[in-house]
Amino acid sequence: MMNEMLIKAIEEKVDAKSWRKWFSSFDVLEISEGRVVFSVSNLFIKDWLEEKYGKVIKKAVKEVLGEGFEYEIVYKESVSTDIVPVAEPSPKIIRVPGFNPDYTFENFVVGKGNEMAYKFAYKVSLEPSRFSPIFIYGGVGVGKTHLAQAIGNRVGATRPDLKIIYTSSEGFMNEMIKALKSGKMEDFRMKYRNVDVFIMDDVQFLMGKNGVQFELFNTFNALMDKKKQLVFCSDRAPSELKDFQDRLISRFKMGIVIEMRLPDVETRKIIARKIAEREGGGLDEELLDFLAENIDGSLRELRGAIIKLIAYQEIENKKVGIVEALDLVSGFLKKRASIDPSEKLISVLSGVFDTSPSMIRSKSRRANVLMARQIGMLFARKYLKMSLRNIGRAFNRSPSVVSQNIRKAEEKLKSNPVMKAYLNKILEHFSLAAGKETGR
Ligand code: ADP
Ligand code: MG
Repeated sequence: MMNEMLIKAIEEKVDAKSWRKWFSSFDVLEISEGRVVFSVSNLFIKDWLEEKYGKVIKKAVKEVLGEGFEYEIVYKESVSTDIVPVAEPSPKIIRVPGFNPDYTFENFVVGKGNEMAYKFAYKVSLEPSRFSPIFIYGGVGVGKTHLAQAIGNRVGATRPDLKIIYTSSEGFMNEMIKALKSGKMEDFRMKYRNVDVFIMDDVQFLMGKNGVQFELFNTFNALMDKKKQLVFCSDRAPSELKDFQDRLISRFKMGIVIEMRLPDVETRKIIARKIAEREGGGLDEELLDFLAENIDGSLRELRGAIIKLIAYQEIENKKVGIVEALDLVSGFLKKRASIDPSEKLISVLSGVFDTSPSMIRSKSRRANVLMARQIGMLFARKYLKMSLRNIGRAFNRSPSVVSQNIRKAEEKLKSNPVMKAYLNKILEHFSLAAGKETGR
């Protein structure tokens, strides 16, 4: 009751669009003496809410709960252990309770690194129990949770007759502890042993937790006996699980074990577009490519950077270029780009067109130098989103000369494919050059 009032009070203070955008996963986790804990399912949204809506939240807390309440927002991966209720089959996309509606097969880009996992996950959703158990493993942010949830979304929407459960191993453990404490172990067992599809994410969390492993072992056997579908995700291979019962490891191994790796750069570029679209869009393709090329840690980071830039664009109401992006998401990039991007551009141009920075800034009219200047100015405008004035400063020209050069370059770009190739080459160098600076 209090929770709902609190949420309502905040909602009233936020315009509808922002509400949908930023508060979709926002919830009250706990109200205790003098303290309210809110949860969100995304770290960047957490930062964002704290920064931009801190006052609003504070005010609402005061309104509803009175003076003297502190609040805190915590990050909580959206995980639900609820059994999906029977839903009407429908040709439309159905929201399956307990599953993230964004994590679907349709939204999953298949490429090198994730193809096998995708195929099997998809197969599972079409014919649950055919391949069981399935064990998908891979590092942080390679898309395991997305696939696991996609199975839930698909089965939930197409097979209302089936019970499907998705839980993190931590959620499973917490629920078990609660059941133990309240003497409700029977209910707990009933719940987990009477499902058609059992999906457990982040199995590695159970390392060293012998009691829960024991319970999982029994759940596993009960479900396998009934020929049910089991799916496990883990950040490492079964044999790499430490402090883990051998018999459970051998159970994992008896099915299909699939490694998932971070997709290659071309796939990441498409993923970047998908994520951007999902999160509200508006980012330039060049920028998305740049992010996909330069954030090679995990797709979670790629997503974090995209969300941040979309937010920034919306708040500032203008397009973000690579220069600003370098600054805004420097924490995500392979390395920090501390160098002035226009300096970097001039030096890249010198390399590509076999000339020197001083030649580019001089009055020289040699063909390669003219070309370097024109393409460089176009690049600075289009990709780096620099102002005419700043480009002028970098190239030692007036803004109007810069503007003429860009127009010429654009003309040539239309008819001359070599121009496009040069632009790409500069972009590539630009990313690589950014890569060398702090050498990660
Ligand atoms: P993991 O569970 O392996 O740590 P996630 O499934 O949480 O990784 O993926 C991180 C983010 O990247 C999620 O937002 C997810 O939707 C997105 N993502 C991962 N792989 C893909 C893909 N192939 N296509 C589209 N989005 C993806
Ligand atoms: Mg995960």
